Order: sequence, then C-alpha cells, then structure tokens
Amino acid sequence: MIPVFEPLLGEEEIENVMKALRNNEISGTCGKYIDEFEKKFSQYCGCKYGVATTSGTTALHLALACLDAKGGDEVVLSALTNIATAYAVVYCNARPVVVDSEPVTWNINTNKIEEKITEKTRVILPVHLYGHPCDMDPIVRIAKKRNLYVVEDACEAHGAEYFSREDKKWKRVGSIGNIGCFSFYSNKIITTGEGGMIVTNSGEIYEKARLLRNLAFSKDVRFRHDYLGFNYRMTNLQAAIGKAQVDKIDKIIDKKRYIAKRYSDGLSSVKGITLPVEMDWAKNVYWMYSILVEGEFGISRDELIEKLKEREIETRTFFIPMNLQPVFKKMGLFEGERCPIAKELSQKGLYLPSGIGLKEEEIDYVIKTIKEIARKKG
Ligand SMILES: *Cc1c(COP(=O)(O)O)cnc(C)c1O
Repeated sequence: MIPVFEPLLGEEEIENVMKALRNNEISGTCGKYIDEFEKKFSQYCGCKYGVATTSGTTALHLALACLDAKGGDEVVLSALTNIATAYAVVYCNARPVVVDSEPVTWNINTNKIEEKITEKTRVILPVHLYGHPCDMDPIVRIAKKRNLYVVEDACEAHGAEYFSREDKKWKRVGSIGNIGCFSFYSNKIITTGEGGMIVTNSGEIYEKARLLRNLAFSKDVRFRHDYLGFNYRMTNLQAAIGKAQVDKIDKIIDKKRYIAKRYSDGLSSVKGITLPVEMDWAKNVYWMYSILVEGEFGISRDELIEKLKEREIETRTFFIPMNLQPVFKKMGLFEGERCPIAKELSQKGLYLPSGIGLKEEEIDYVIKTIKEIARKKG
C-alpha cells in the first residue's frame, strides 16, 4: 500500500533527541531545544516570537485564550477545516460562526465574512487549507475596520507565502494576523510527533502565551495564579526533533512542490478531475495533494477511493464542514447554517499519497492508475 502520508526523519533528529536525553533535558521547562526551536521557527515565519505547545489544537486554544475570547464572544472561521479549529473556539465558551468556502482555492470566501460579523465578533480565524494561503488582505482590512483580531490557522501551511497587494510584499502565513497557529503532528509539513506553536509579533501576546502555557504561575509569587492557565508545554524531546526539522524545512517544501507538480502534469489531461491551484499571489506548499472528482469523471469520488485501494493506493476524503458536525448540532450550534460550497468540496474532494518519502515511480503509478480507472470507468 502506498500510504497517504509517512513522516520522514533523519539522523539529525535522532542525534538531537539523544543529546537531549543525555543531558536529562526531557520536560517542557528544561532544555535548550525549546528556545532554539521557537526562535528558529518563528523567525522562519517572519515573526519575532514563538511559543511551542503540545499540539495544533492547544496552539489554537492558547491563541484565543491570549486574546481573552470568552462566553458571549463570536469567532468567525472557515467552514471547511479540521475540527480542532472549531473546538478551540468552543473550549473558550465562545461561539464559532462559519463562513462558506470559495470554489477555487477552497479557502474562506472573503466576500462572505462581513455578513457574519456582529457586535459580539471578536476574532476572525481563517484556515490556510491544504497548504494554500487564504486571501489575507481583505481579511485584515475587515478586521481593522471592525476592530477585530485575526488568528491564522496555519496548521497545514508551514512556509506557504502570500503576496499582500496592500503592502506590496510576500509574507509567510502565520505572520499576517495577530497570531499564527501551527501543528507539528506527524503528518504535517514539519513534525515533532505531536506538537504545535503560536507565532506573533506582539510582545504582549508572547508574554501572555508563555504565562498561560505554563499553568499561569505568577512571576513574583510562584504558587499564586491570576489567570486560568493550561499545561500546554512542548517537551524538550519534541523540540529537539523540531529543531532538526525546521533546519530542513525548505527542502521539505521543495519536495512537496515537486510532488504536486508531477501529479498536476500527469493528471491535467484527465477529464473530471479538478487539480489544486496556486493563485499568482500565493505560494502553495501542497500539504496534501488534493483533487476534486467531478461528475464528468464517470465514477464517484467514493468509488474512485475504493478502486485505488484495490490497487494498493491509500487516499483520504476532505474534511466535513463544521456546520454539519453532529457534535456541534447537539450543542445547538450552526442551526440553519448552509455552506453549499464547503459541502460540495467535502463530497468531491480527496487527497492522494503526499509524503515526502514518495518515489517518482510511486507518483507515476498513482497517475497511471487514475488514468486507467478513468478510461475503464471503474
Ligand atoms: C492538524 C490541524 C489542526 C490540529 O492540529 P493537532 O496538532 O492535530 O492538534 C488544526 N487545524 C488544522 C487546519 C489542522 O490541519
């Protein structure tokens, strides 16, 4: 089976972890790798500060907690995302409000954000889906106008770039809003096994994030606590892996882009398959090489998945939109909400094997197999 994803670690990661072990630096409060990883990755993103966490989910929660999101507040987010984006909002007792996708990049439709903003809105939380950046200029413009924060969910888009027409320059995702959130789960662009980070240019947010990450121990009297804190500390062992990973992030992204180009070249002639795009204002890092199976293809998305599986190719379907999640329905959220584009994408979308360990022959085998299935319609 060609897996949909496999992490690829090297000697550098092993060496760093061994060093951390030999120094007895294994926790989240002891060891040089945490600091190094935070500095290196935040700088890579174009931010002054980084605060490493236990996951992308906790990075999102920590980010919203730093902005004091609470009961009565609303957070406007992309409908099509990993459930963690909406969970983080609910953990703060705030209300998630979804915006439908736009059909080309599959990201949040920036023309539909303003109609979702109310007196209660506090944060806009766009998700850079599958490695393609959201169109951030309009989001930042709306946030400024309405006095809102912007938190970027960049958990799938490490190193993706956005050309701001407003500022006339390229920026890495995560550095554009007030806070950027990343995941380092094993299938993400770079990994620490489990892990996450928030990045920011605000010294105030940085201090608050460090405080809340570590149970909110106050600086002067250690066991007095002025805030509701969390234990979201990344261990030095994970940071040791992360440091080695960030050292090679450019190579990893080059490989992701190479895989995407090879797939796109091979599949562009197949009728009924919509390929992922890269807008001229974007650098896509193709976290997962994602395609849509249209009616014209001849068989359904789910049938294609079955056929590929029979031929030893693992794939995965797109996310299910937040407004269709039973867990939120039970909580009375998103009542009457419709996101037709997100729903359609979630029914048509799948991603192909995308690990950076993929061999050219494997990519070519996937392409050849899809073409064969298309020809035979099954
Ligand atoms: C993976 C992911 C998360 C959650 O990250 P974890 O490290 O698994 O907690 C959040 N948002 C998006 C968009 C993701 O892809």
